[in-house]
Amino acid sequence: MVRERSGSTVEGIIGELEVGGRFVPLPSSPPRYIGVNGMRPLADSILSQTCMIDVVRPCWISKLEPCNGMWHLSENGKPRGQFDALVIAHNGKCANRLLASSGLPLIARQMKRLELSSIWALLAAFEDPLPNPANAVTFPFEGAFVKGVDSVSWMANNAKKLLCSQNTGPHCWTFFSTATFGKRNKVPQENIPTATAERVKEAMLEGVENALGLSKSSLKRPFYTRLQLWGAALPTNTPGIPCIFDPHGRAGICGDWLLGSSLEAAAISGIALANHIADYFQSGGARPDEFAHLSLIRWLLKFYKHIIVTAVSKGDLRIRQWNHLKECFMLHVLSIPAPCFCNLFPHLRVSFRRHL
Ligand SMILES: Cc1cc2nc3c(=O)[nH]c(=O)nc-3n(C[C@H](O)[C@H](O)[C@H](O)COP(=O)(O)OP(=O)(O)OC[C@H]3O[C@@H](n4cnc5c(N)ncnc54)[C@H](O)[C@@H]3O)c2cc1C
Repeated sequence: MVRERSGSTVEGIIGELEVGGRFVPLPSSPPRYIGVNGMRPLADSILSQTCMIDVVRPCWISKLEPCNGMWHLSENGKPRGQFDALVIAHNGKCANRLLASSGLPLIARQMKRLELSSIWALLAAFEDPLPNPANAVTFPFEGAFVKGVDSVSWMANNAKKLLCSQNTGPHCWTFFSTATFGKRNKVPQENIPTATAERVKEAMLEGVENALGLSKSSLKRPFYTRLQLWGAALPTNTPGIPCIFDPHGRAGICGDWLLGSSLEAAAISGIALANHIADYFQSGGARPDEFAHLSLIRWLLKFYKHIIVTAVSKGDLRIRQWNHLKECFMLHVLSIPAPCFCNLFPHLRVSFRRHL
């Protein structure tokens, strides 16, 4: 973990902690960054490097309407501008609601496929440093991906992260549960029953004990805890593609969930979609099918090895997945010139059929 504060960087250690206390540090390169004073300064700093982006805030888009080749956006009836292309950079119920009436079936249905896990987050403040892991190679670590413990998947020393120069004071740790544990103990996140909160807290502290390889009940009690259910947390069905673009609707999706669940994933996804849209407009929009769903198809190919390609009129191709893709067929129809398709997917076993 690398901190950037007043121009200086300090390195901490993160690694993998296996149940029983075996800690293996991860390589220090590439550097890992944390947000100082929250994540907002990171975005502000990127924004300050360009004058081409106009951020309007606060603004909560409630309607998207296609009109004369443009997208008209509005917020509760108040016009918010007309745009050549649309980017949906968020997910969840709000995005689904917006897309439902947008006339973008491809984008809307892909978004609806997203499944997010629930993860418990426990903040615990201890008087003393946590004991060394039983089999530590290096200690103290500042963050660890925990393996083999149901109730804990990640632990990070918040006090070290945020108050690195301060050696006195409380030792505050953040613990994340696994998605399996989150699902098994799921409750309404706005109204967590006291009994559930207590049970989850105890299970997570016990998980920390197990991860560190400590004997039962030897972990000192934290003097302060705060528990929260992160309801829409990490995606369970990450497509593993940078972005999705519908050239006919001139609309795309980007966001962390397409590649993973981190700021890095969000940035890579956003850049990919921006480049894709720029290429599309530079091409004059004359061959929209060449820009269609390519990343989506790549994603499909990961799951469906054999795809039937049906040649349709004038060398265009249509892809049809015979088996269980029938339901999604409308989504995944791809119409691009045959040579272009073969260049893109040289490894693909396809059969070509002339459409009668
Ligand atoms: C508690 C917590 C801690 C995290 N810690 C880390 C970390 O340490 N490191 C890391 O890499 N990642 C971390 N993450 C994950 C990281 O925050 C996300 O991966 C990242 O923010 C995703 O970026 P995004 O642009 O895809 O989506 P978001 O950041 O969710 O951005 C979507 C934006 O769309 C806006 N929006 C939604 N609907 C509308 C609408 N109708 N009109 C206008 N705007 C709208 C939202 O207000 C939001 O600003 C953390 C997440 C959480 C919740």
